[in-house]
Amino acid sequence: LFKDSGSPTIFDKIIAKVIPSKIVYEDDKVLAFRDLNPQAPTHILIIPKHRDGLTQLSKAEERHKEILGELLYASTVVAKKEKLDDGYRIVINDGPQGCQSVYHLHIHLVGGRQMKWPPG
Ligand code: 5GP
Repeated sequence: LFKDSGSPTIFDKIIAKVIPSKIVYEDDKVLAFRDLNPQAPTHILIIPKHRDGLTQLSKAEERHKEILGELLYASTVVAKKEKLDDGYRIVINDGPQGCQSVYHLHIHLVGGRQMKWPPG
């Protein structure tokens, strides 16, 4: 119902540390934490700490270019930390057809097993 209105999501509580998460990386702009329901041996979510209208990737505007770069770069830092030296996958589920369920932009970093292509 509130999908596109920018209502608070569970990720706000994770950022505020009101609900616990397994944090693997944090700086002033980005938080990375383990997915509660992992789809691979390594499954980490990388999110902006300040959503600033980025409920989903397709809502991005010019002002978001810097944070989009920060998120992608943080993903590479996390992948190195997790020693995903044989590769990994980065996914952004966008909107209903993309199977997005939390409307606070996030990158999924999945690895630690052989991925398949094309995805389902
Ligand atoms: P989406 O389907 O929106 O691309 O991904 C949302 C992800 O957030 C899912 O993979 C789901 O398992 C994860 N998730 C939802 N609620 C929580 C939570 O409270 N804690 C953590 N760590 N992950 C969550």
